[in-house]
Amino acid sequence: KHTLIGGGTGFIGQHLAKHLTQKGHEITVISRMPGPKRITWHQLEKQGIPSSVNGVVNATGQNVLDPSRRWTPGFKQNVWNSRINSAKMLSSAIKSAPQVKSFVNVCGVSLYRPSATKTYTEADQGENYDYMSRLCLAWEEAACSADSTDQGCKCTIVRSGVVVGRNGGMIKSIWLPFKLGLGGPMGSGDQIMPWIHMHDLCALIHHLMEKCETGAFNAVAPEIATNKSFSQEFAKALNRPCLFNVPEFVVHAIFGKERAALLLSGARIQPQRAISSGYQFKYPTAKSAAAEVVGK
Ligand code: NDP
Repeated sequence: KHTLIGGGTGFIGQHLAKHLTQKGHEITVISRMPGPKRITWHQLEKQGIPSSVNGVVNATGQNVLDPSRRWTPGFKQNVWNSRINSAKMLSSAIKSAPQVKSFVNVCGVSLYRPSATKTYTEADQGENYDYMSRLCLAWEEAACSADSTDQGCKCTIVRSGVVVGRNGGMIKSIWLPFKLGLGGPMGSGDQIMPWIHMHDLCALIHHLMEKCETGAFNAVAPEIATNKSFSQEFAKALNRPCLFNVPEFVVHAIFGKERAALLLSGARIQPQRAISSGYQFKYPTAKSAAAEVVGK
């Protein structure tokens, strides 16, 4: 098996490359920078998908929550284009590569509008209610823009919650304050935080590739956590207290109101299709995920 990973240099991409390598896949990465076992987006556009590749995963995207970048129109455009263009380019390249039998695009969960009462599954429609929800809807459409069904390759969308793993993403950003005993929930902490452990995200992607499953899958842990309950489990795993909240106005000041919504609100989501397709979560609870991440 030979799998092409768009964004394979990133946090998710690197873990996925390692996971699939252990499962016997050969990996080639698509990156903006050339290098060994890599092709660039430009090469992909000009030369298409290498003939030996039979699976494609896309995990590309400018980091939305980079606090060093202001939420300017230019940065928003980068956030948008990096996702939509890569998904579209891969979708149309697959159309000319009949040997490719699976295409998984890692997307987000912001298309589920946060609600006090509703629990979402894949049977629910996504909603267009803010910038991030519009991005999620356009992203999924881009990934499935060139229909390759007739050549036996359908498009699979993985709607991922916050990925909990070592050396990257949210855990990397909160590690130091929590280690110093100063960490705590964002805002009130009562908002739902859809999350998944990195192992489960990679293993679920592999499972979906193997089973040639198509359509959208919620990649979130079965145990629904609030930002507060997750923070408490993480602090406990580090043997630290969890005493202070980061006030909402501080989150707004750092990220801007639109982007802060990603941290200050969240929908209650179940991974119904992952479970019914036979996937078994290794880290279903915040407690088990936090323990793994801190090395317990
Ligand atoms: P990373 O920030 O680690 O970046 C992934 C890769 O995207 C980078 O290695 C880079 O590859 C490429 N990239 C970054 N900016 C741009 C750009 N402006 N144009 C083109 N390519 C770019 O991301 P993650 O691995 O954390 O996430 C991957 C995808 O999964 C993203 O789309 C993200 O939104 C989504 N996701 C992530 C979650 C998380 O918690 N991490 C949760 C839900 C969804 P290179 O420099 O080699 O070109």
